[in-house]
This record gives sequence, C-alpha cells and structure tokens, in this order.
Amino acid sequence: MAELLKGKPVVDAMAQDIAARVERLAQVGVVPTLAIVRVGERPDDLSYERTALKRADALGIAVRQIVLDEAVSQADLERAIMQVNNDATIHGCLLFRPLPTHLDETAVCNLLAPHKDIDGITNASLASVFTDAGVGFAPATAAAVIRLLDHYEVPLNGANVVVVGRSLVIGKPVAMLLLARHATVTMCHSRTADLARVMREADIVVCATGRARAYGEECFSAGQVVVDVGINFDAEGNLCGDVDLAAVEPVVGAITPVPGGIGSVTTSTTMAHVVEAAEAAAGLL
Ligand code: NAP
Repeated sequence: MAELLKGKPVVDAMAQDIAARVERLAQVGVVPTLAIVRVGERPDDLSYERTALKRADALGIAVRQIVLDEAVSQADLERAIMQVNNDATIHGCLLFRPLPTHLDETAVCNLLAPHKDIDGITNASLASVFTDAGVGFAPATAAAVIRLLDHYEVPLNGANVVVVGRSLVIGKPVAMLLLARHATVTMCHSRTADLARVMREADIVVCATGRARAYGEECFSAGQVVVDVGINFDAEGNLCGDVDLAAVEPVVGAITPVPGGIGSVTTSTTMAHVVEAAEAAAGLL
C-alpha cells in the first residue's frame, strides 16, 4: 500500500515556522495582514473564506474582508484594489475568482501591486515564476505542491515529473517551479496522446485537471509519487480528487489523499506568503 502523503504534517510544520516569524514581526510592531476581496456570495468563495479566516486567526495573521456586491462595477472593484495597494498596513491580497462575467478579470488582477500578490494572479508574478526575478509570489497551489514534496523529502533533482493540466493557476506554474528544482518535466493536457503511458513512465505525477477519479491504476506504476491537486465532487456529492485513490493506492509508492492532501497546504502557503510579504515590507528579509 502507498504511503499517504497527508497535508496535516506539512501544515503543522509550516505553522511552527510561521508562528516564529509572526513573533519576530510583532517585535517590530507589525501584524501581518491579509485582505480578502470577494465579489458576491459564491458558495466556493464563502467556504474558502471561512477556512482562510480560521487559519489566519490561528497563526496571528489579521484579515480585512472587503465584500462587494455581485453587480459591482469595474470602476468600484478597481477602486477597492487600489485601496489595498495604497494601504501600507495590508501586506497581501486574495481576490476570489472567477469574477462575475461583466467584470474584466485580467484588468483587475493586473491592478494589484505585485508585492501584495500572494497568489500569483498578476502577469508580473507569473512572469517571475518563469524568470525567477523575485517579483510577487507563485500561485499558492503550485507552491504548495513543492512544499509538500519537500516536506516528504521527495527528490526533485533529475526526477521525471509528469504534470497533467496546463492552467495558469496550477499546471504551468508548477511545471516551472519543478524545472527550477532541476526536474525533467513533461506537461500533459486534454490533447496528449496515450496519456496513461506517459503518466506510467514518470517518477512523480502531478494531476490538476478537475476530473473526478478520472485516473485509475492503468495510469500508474510501482514506486511512483502522486500528487493529486483535484478538488471535485463525484455523482454522490462526495469530495474527491482527480485520481481514483482506492484503485491507485495499492499500485504506487506514495500519494496525496483528497480530502486531506494539498488543499490545506495551499491555505497555509497563502498565509506563509502573507508573512513573507510583511517581512519584506518591514525590511526583515
Ligand atoms: P482548469 O483551468 O479547468 O484546467 C484543467 C486542465 O486539465 C487543462 O489544462 C485541461 O487541458 C486539462 N484536462 C482536462 N481534461 C483533460 C483530460 N481528459 N486529459 C488530460 N488533461 C485534461 O482547472 P484548474 O483551475 O487548473 O484546476 C484543476 C483542479 O485543481 C480542479 O479540480 C480544481 O478544483 C483544483 N484546485 C485545487 C486547488 C487546491 O488547493 N488543492 C486549488 C485550485 C484548484 P486543456 O488545456 O487541453 O483544456
């Protein structure tokens, strides 16, 4: 049976590190502060907001909730982002997406000051994932994948990694972060020919496609490390990943469960980014 790469030990280790850094910030009079900008009342956003509020509170990170009506105008939303940019007591900003379709999401994202962009939503932050220029932060989920692999001491240098999914939120940035760690990365997507064969040949597989339990034992081989980023609901309404955990667990060497895997590490990574942004603003880095 595969080793289960659970998120909780990673989250606990990160909490210890963050607590020490929050304490150091307190000594120079700084409370790391996250702004959450939410438009409307989407259940996904509300659920993530509750989780974020709980985690931030436990870590000593302050949160300002900026809630705007579903029908908010582009100008008013942009004004809210500018307020975040101009408020020196706010260190990081989480903007829930997708935004309602009447809004120009790209324009809103790119208005955010990159040094407050703790979830890699600006073009400047994303470019930095490619150039390593140190501007902004990588998308939190992509960064969380690396943190989890590092926590469990999975070697990346020289490893053959297959990333399934090529979105700007996960697939593309995680591939770049892995490349920066000297992995040999193959990116797969909906047009990849013979995907199961490509996946079987990897040392590490990262699945981020949003397809409930779509990848079964035919896609995996003995000894592999599997990171399942998917957050899906099956026909019965149960939370599940992209990988068919029950079928694949007996085959591979190690796998992240869903729930209980990458999701909680993503929230902690977001908080770690806020703390790092506060440290940078306070000149502590
Ligand atoms: P997305 O933007 O919809 O992208 C999905 C990707 O999967 C696309 O690149 C798509 O390929 C690929 N894909 C779709 N069908 C495929 C198939 N049959 N074979 C191979 N590849 C296929 O999704 P996303 O935003 O990246 O999210 C992916 C998953 O991660 C979702 O379940 C989401 O809920 C979850 N997620 C988790 C976290 C977390 O913290 N754990 C955070 C965010 C999202 P094409 O480009 O060819 O269409």
